[in-house]
Amino acid sequence: MIKLNENYLKLKSSYLFSEIAKKVNAFKDANPSADVIRLGIGDVTLPLPKVCLDAFHKGVDDMADASTFKGYGPEQGYDFLREKIAKFDFQKYDADIQASEVFVSDGAKCDSGNFQELFSNDITIAVPDPVYPVYVDTNVMAGRTGESSNGRYDGLVYLEGTEENGFVPDIPDKKVDLIYLCFPNNPTGATATKAQLKEWVDYARKEKALILYDAAYEAFIRDESLPHTIYEIEGAREVAVEFRSYSKTAGFTGTRCAYTVVPGSCMIYDKDGSKHSLQALWNRRHTTKFNGVSYPVQRAAEAIYIGDGPEQIRKLNDYYLRNAALIRSTMTDLGLSCTGGVNSPYIWVKCNMDSWKFFDNMLNKAAVVCTPGAGFGACGEGYIRISAFNMYENVQIALKRICDALKKV
Ligand code: PLP
Repeated sequence: MIKLNENYLKLKSSYLFSEIAKKVNAFKDANPSADVIRLGIGDVTLPLPKVCLDAFHKGVDDMADASTFKGYGPEQGYDFLREKIAKFDFQKYDADIQASEVFVSDGAKCDSGNFQELFSNDITIAVPDPVYPVYVDTNVMAGRTGESSNGRYDGLVYLEGTEENGFVPDIPDKKVDLIYLCFPNNPTGATATKAQLKEWVDYARKEKALILYDAAYEAFIRDESLPHTIYEIEGAREVAVEFRSYSKTAGFTGTRCAYTVVPGSCMIYDKDGSKHSLQALWNRRHTTKFNGVSYPVQRAAEAIYIGDGPEQIRKLNDYYLRNAALIRSTMTDLGLSCTGGVNSPYIWVKCNMDSWKFFDNMLNKAAVVCTPGAGFGACGEGYIRISAFNMYENVQIALKRICDALKKV
């Protein structure tokens, strides 16, 4: 008899976005002519930048000629991409990261979800609340969380993001072994300062803990006092892994390319307390279960670092930041307090009511889809996430409809 991994039964049955899809479909069935505008799921709408497309095409052409054809590539990624990542994403900010510490992959979702495989099942894990659900669900699947009651898992430590702490969680008052952090944050749009990250790095060093730092939205940082990478913080090389993605940076959600940095100085401990190289373990996992990102896609990713690449990427993300600024100012004018929308494509709006009720109001009265904060954790109740990923004209229409609807409430 084939038996189930019973941990899967502990997963909360309805994933946030499928619940939203169900509600949107029901609305569309009842209102077939309604023009629904989606400011919900964080998927990009603009096409790939020209530099990426040109490099992508050229990469495909290389596959047509035996002298330039590529078969299996290195699982960790081609040196041409890893070297540019190290130089332009890290060394540029005085962060000491080498190409050999970069592992190219097909997504920060997979990497942030898969990384937990390296850890023992009896570690204590701290996750943000509200949270990008992948960090929690992958640990549930692995059996590290216990049962869920009242929307929280018994075995997890929740790092609460609240109005009071500006959605940058405080250091826990108990010892934890693994810490998930995400800045600029999904869903709150909050950013962490160097001083705040330093506290986390110091804590992790003291406790021999590890930080999994998700910087998928780094490309939206415009305030130059903010850290672009956790490796700008002294000591982070010993205790932090960083996830990055080209999905939002360069419109690669459908193209797929990302990377994870595992510094050579990051250590992990066995049951006797002996040290092991985290990088060697991740390399073992990656080369066993992954066979590399396609060559043309890696060429397309490389293009963001050279020639007109940086300028085109900046323009691309400035487009969404303009949307974000408009959303933020409109919500503020409506008297709703907001976080994010600056250095981030997400705006976290305090809706002063149950977040699913606000979602239903927006859908039924304005035909606009946002994301109820409660879907990201208990601390998300009373908030909604509005995403800036859409065309500017649609954002303008959506906001006008929201204003009209809220004035009628
Ligand atoms: N990390 C965060 C915080 C995200 O919000 C997302 C996508 O929404 C991802 C990772 C996924 O990135 P990728 O498309 O590279 O899998």
